[in-house]
Amino acid sequence: RPAIVWFRRDLRLADNPALVEAAASGQPLIPLFIDETGVPEGEADGGATRWWLHHSLLSLGRDLAARGVPLLLRRGEPLAVLEALVAATGATRVLWNRRYTPRGVVQDTTIKAALTRHGIEVRSFKAGLLFEPWEIATRSGTPFRVFTPFWRSCLAAPPPDRPLPPPAALRPCESVPPGDDLGSWRLLPTAPDWAGGLNADWQPGEAGAEARLQIFLDQRLKAYAVARDLPGQAGTSRLSPHLAFGEISPRRAFHAARDAAGSGNGLDRFLAELGWREFCAHLLFTVPDLPEQPLRGEFAAFPWRDDPELLVAWQRGRTGFPLVDAGMRELWTTGWMHNRVRMVVASFLVKDLLLSWRLGADWFRDTLVDADLASNVASWQWVAGCGADAAPFFRIFNPTLQGEKFDPDGRYVRRWCPELAGLPDRWLHQPGRASDIILRQAGVSLGRSYPHPIVDHDVARRRALAAMENCHGGE
Ligand code: FAD
Repeated sequence: RPAIVWFRRDLRLADNPALVEAAASGQPLIPLFIDETGVPEGEADGGATRWWLHHSLLSLGRDLAARGVPLLLRRGEPLAVLEALVAATGATRVLWNRRYTPRGVVQDTTIKAALTRHGIEVRSFKAGLLFEPWEIATRSGTPFRVFTPFWRSCLAAPPPDRPLPPPAALRPCESVPPGDDLGSWRLLPTAPDWAGGLNADWQPGEAGAEARLQIFLDQRLKAYAVARDLPGQAGTSRLSPHLAFGEISPRRAFHAARDAAGSGNGLDRFLAELGWREFCAHLLFTVPDLPEQPLRGEFAAFPWRDDPELLVAWQRGRTGFPLVDAGMRELWTTGWMHNRVRMVVASFLVKDLLLSWRLGADWFRDTLVDADLASNVASWQWVAGCGADAAPFFRIFNPTLQGEKFDPDGRYVRRWCPELAGLPDRWLHQPGRASDIILRQAGVSLGRSYPHPIVDHDVARRRALAAMENCHGGE
């Protein structure tokens, strides 16, 4: 009698404990992916996620088929899908790797209880995080709210297990009712097809993830501590979408980096970034209303503005601030944005435009290939100053200075704002300050080929500080 392995955000064969357990049992295997219906608006898959999911499922399906077990696709409400499949196949066990989002936890608990009542054995495994959220706590047993002691405590705990190899053999189940055709889910964009840039940049799936990891270990890890902050250089791993879809496990990334580097600043920094991913998951697990509510209650009454035109200018990279525009265009074209620039564009939305962090998080959810509920909302709240261990609200990024510091040779801005490419480095990050002659020589016509700044940063900064002061008497 078969076992069902329910794949979710763990679309891989390597280091997949649920799959390894199913293989070890010798039971015939039904690998299943459910396209869930009824997901609430704020957690629904965005366009970029759907594009990635399509390709990742194709890749997983190919890898499983090569081992003789086809991936079964079903759309519907998960418990109903599982119950129907159990009834049709006589499956005795359902195995999965754990989810940690509040809705995922509630859903898994309910499904486990219902299936157990039907006499089905349900087993769940740790695979998506290095540490379970309940394994790491302060001395008094409360969850951490500050990153540094959290990560110190993680590093003091027994190290994460080494990753498991993919199972050697899988036994197919002979009598599986037909599933959906992936095409019928319509995950890919059609008119217009905006996915050209995504296709050019990414290879969704386990093989693509492993290739990214190797490039990172061979070429980038050593210099990572410095290069990670420079958006004009390929200094980071770009593993984020692969980690978000579980095409590579955090244990694999953690141990591979340690094995490759032994020690050093680059290694420590990289592991700490994996630590931030853990911290965000830990935070969302322990603060389930994080996506809706600022962690710091005094921000609940913040006087956000409502200005759809400013929002669109930000979304489309037409703010007149080159680093912000470059970042938003990189995101729109490739589904990814460099972390330094994510911080700058987020600060700009929240503090310069006074638009709510929730609007920013929503746009990121729709456009990022690595969109992840925990990392996204925790990072937005961090930038907005209302989250855990957050940058204080009064520390407001100056987008021009950030550009000059982190993109000094303008490579990043020139790539994404080619209409500014002819400007000398000195004026690239503040075209409004260049003389008419310089602008003309560079072929830049402000207000026509490139927008005037949509706000005066100094005025906006003072306005943001005053809004904060009125909201809760300052910091
Ligand atoms: P690397 O520098 O190579 O880091 C390795 C891995 O560590 C990443 O793949 C990622 O999984 C993790 N990581 C790195 N930095 C962070 C961080 N600050 N917080 C949490 N995890 C981190 N990351 C997401 O994965 N999904 C999101 O939806 C997301 N939204 C963000 C929103 C804002 C406003 C900001 C400021 C950051 C956000 N991040 C998010 C975090 C970070 O920007 C990306 O993880 C990182 O840029 C991915 O690039 P990389 O894989 O090359 O990272």
